[in-house]
Amino acid sequence: MTEQKIGQKLTEPGPVSPKYLWHAGELVEWDQATVHVSMLGWTAISAVFEGIRAYWDPDRQELHIFRLDAHLKRLFQSMKIMRMTSPHSKEELTQALSSLLRANEYQGDVYIQPLAYFAGGIPGYLAVLEQPGVVLMTSRPAPSNLTSSKVAHCNISSWSRISDNVMPPRAKAITNYQNSRYVSTESRINGYDFGIILNQDGKVSEASYACIYIIRDGVAITPLISSGILESITRDSLNRLLEEELKVPVVERELERTELYIADEVFICGTSVEIQGVGSVDRYQVGDGQVGPITARLQSLFNQIVRGGHPGYADWCTPVYQDQKTPV
Ligand SMILES: *Cc1c(COP(=O)(O)O)cnc(C)c1O
Repeated sequence: MTEQKIGQKLTEPGPVSPKYLWHAGELVEWDQATVHVSMLGWTAISAVFEGIRAYWDPDRQELHIFRLDAHLKRLFQSMKIMRMTSPHSKEELTQALSSLLRANEYQGDVYIQPLAYFAGGIPGYLAVLEQPGVVLMTSRPAPSNLTSSKVAHCNISSWSRISDNVMPPRAKAITNYQNSRYVSTESRINGYDFGIILNQDGKVSEASYACIYIIRDGVAITPLISSGILESITRDSLNRLLEEELKVPVVERELERTELYIADEVFICGTSVEIQGVGSVDRYQVGDGQVGPITARLQSLFNQIVRGGHPGYADWCTPVYQDQKTPV
């Protein structure tokens, strides 16, 4: 991909805005949701967020939010690291999110982004003892790629991953994404889809906003929580599915760059990328360059589970339309 094409992308018209978002306790029409221009910049530096998906089940005409509980728990943990308290309970946010999705009348897969920030007279750079944040939740249609056979071509980034004593990667913080952005911009300019980031010890941490696995001799290997990764909910889910459903042992350990070159399979995972096979790393072909067999089985199983079609994992799926009694 050329530089020009990256620039052009920014000027393409965006998708149609949803009718509603949720801000500071209420549903607000998209065009009415404004804040003062002076809030730009400093409010972002301690802002934290979540990326959540909801999957449509066409047979039952139902939308399922995937692992909502775990996402809200992590949002509160990210807020805690920022010394931000939540003005809303987990239950309130659960209700609010269901109301938002119903108000936008989705009948397809959706990506949801809650964001919590310090508003008003608290510039993000000032030391604060615990203060309440403001929560914003937006949503947009985002068709799943779980049935696609597309592979990603990755490079090892020349940038290093942030670390726990610098910018804790464990917090899902807006500011951490500058690290991700240096990586993804470098990758795109050089014709790759994703960059893989080494941590300050030179070991593999993650892709710019997705975790990574390799398959070697029937074993799935993924970097440690302490290797500079975000504590990914997809990774947590896949560790369980690999072991319990696919009977593939999972080892969490330090992972070295050249292991990616010789792996049988490599895939990346996260709410946004879901599960995507990696076809090459630094132009070393991985396996036969296609989605590997274990990766393909995992994609298919995951696709079934997230749409509410697997009784063993019903507690991972929060139905949105079933409970119509909650007022919109
Ligand atoms: C959100 C995120 C991931 C993926 O986490 P999930 O919980 O699986 O969505 C990976 N890396 C970074 C930097 C992230 O922000």
